[in-house]
Amino acid sequence: MNISAFQPVTLSDFPGKVAALVFTQGCNFRCPYCHNPSLLKNRSERVMDADDVLAFLIKRMGKLQGLVISGGEPTMQAGLIPFLREVKKLDYSVKLDTNGSFPNVLETLLTEKLVDYIAMDIKAPLVKYAAVVHKRVNTEHICRSIEIIMSAPELSYEFRTTALKSQLSKEDLLDCGKLIKGADRYVLQHCNPTDAIALAGKRGEISQYYSSGELLEIRKRLYDLSINCRIR
Ligand code: SF4
Repeated sequence: MNISAFQPVTLSDFPGKVAALVFTQGCNFRCPYCHNPSLLKNRSERVMDADDVLAFLIKRMGKLQGLVISGGEPTMQAGLIPFLREVKKLDYSVKLDTNGSFPNVLETLLTEKLVDYIAMDIKAPLVKYAAVVHKRVNTEHICRSIEIIMSAPELSYEFRTTALKSQLSKEDLLDCGKLIKGADRYVLQHCNPTDAIALAGKRGEISQYYSSGELLEIRKRLYDLSINCRIR
């Protein structure tokens, strides 16, 4: 597994748990607002081996409760499943951040009970997905991932959408919500201007942001459609 960055402790990335955080290298999408652009290309150099992470987790047993796997896109990693089998032997809770492109991997992770919490991005209404992530997208895979997550017993999960006004209209955000109607948790995320500005020179798409008031109005419209939503 190609691990590009490691954070020994986080209090904010795994709800209710003190956790370590692993970032994997490589992503199949190119979202212009990506917070981790250095992690997108497939590269061979590694910051840390999976065995080093496991050794760290063994030392911290009883102090840390969880491990967050983020990226990049972790489900692209061939070594993810064997790695998480070892993590679960140590009795850690696991949270996975994913863009939902690889439903077969999610299915295996859930069948083997290797994850406890999944946070999946809903990037756009299906018809706009490729335009938003700047890559070809099999939207059937996105829908299948949503279905797998929502039907998994005993799984905590959230779906989340980065609400960038220059990419997604209010109607688009409502359509994103409709894709996961009935979900336990849906989060509309403010686009972080600091990161966005860093990439704005490369792509002129990041120019308009939703105000807090506008997102509250969209949240109300989602509530009216019986879609529970939080703003972050
Ligand atoms: S899916 Fe996530 S990691 Fe990949 S480009 Fe988009 S924001 Fe970045």
